[in-house]
Amino acid sequence: MKAMKIFYDLNGALYANITNKCPCNCTFCIRHNDETVGENDSLWLEHEPSVEEIEAAFDAVDKSKYSEVVFCGFGEPMERPYELLEVAKYIKATTDMKIRINTNGLVSLIHPTFDLYSMRGLIDSVSISLNASDPHKYLDITKSRFGLASYNSMLNFAIVTHSFIPDVKFTVVDVIGEEELELCRERANDVGVPLRVRSYISNNREYD
Ligand code: SF4
Repeated sequence: MKAMKIFYDLNGALYANITNKCPCNCTFCIRHNDETVGENDSLWLEHEPSVEEIEAAFDAVDKSKYSEVVFCGFGEPMERPYELLEVAKYIKATTDMKIRINTNGLVSLIHPTFDLYSMRGLIDSVSISLNASDPHKYLDITKSRFGLASYNSMLNFAIVTHSFIPDVKFTVVDVIGEEELELCRERANDVGVPLRVRSYISNNREYD
């Protein structure tokens, strides 16, 4: 039987894993070759947990050492934006914890009618995987099922959320080469969203 590890600790931070789904198939995703993150057992969920199951799992966590919840599934957390925001409301109502989402930024393609502004006041920070400096390179890396439209949708997500969420940033891993890194810096600069270059660590893609 697969695990139902909805909340897990990684390097002293509390992560929330609410879905197995993702529209991408990134070349370096841990889903290809590892089911574990840090010291944790498999993060594959035996089913997509309900809001009630997620809230019950949250209640069971000893939250004394955490100041933030990071939605960063083994899948893409914004596959389930409505459930995520329900849980975010619950977290805000019952604790003073901050809430971050680590995302591929493709929610507007996954759920075209989702209102990005419904995140206002619930989400404190968003970390978006920029991955590349143009739509073709992005598609080569992510294999997004939405094709070449993915890159511009991801950029638009960043622009809109940056207008009302206090802390929005792009991330990119440092193994893409200095020339491509410089192009990514330029692109982030054009969009007006800060870029953070992360060290590539094979089993914690997107987990910092
Ligand atoms: S790295 Fe993230 S966006 Fe890419 S396939 Fe894995 S979970 Fe999906």
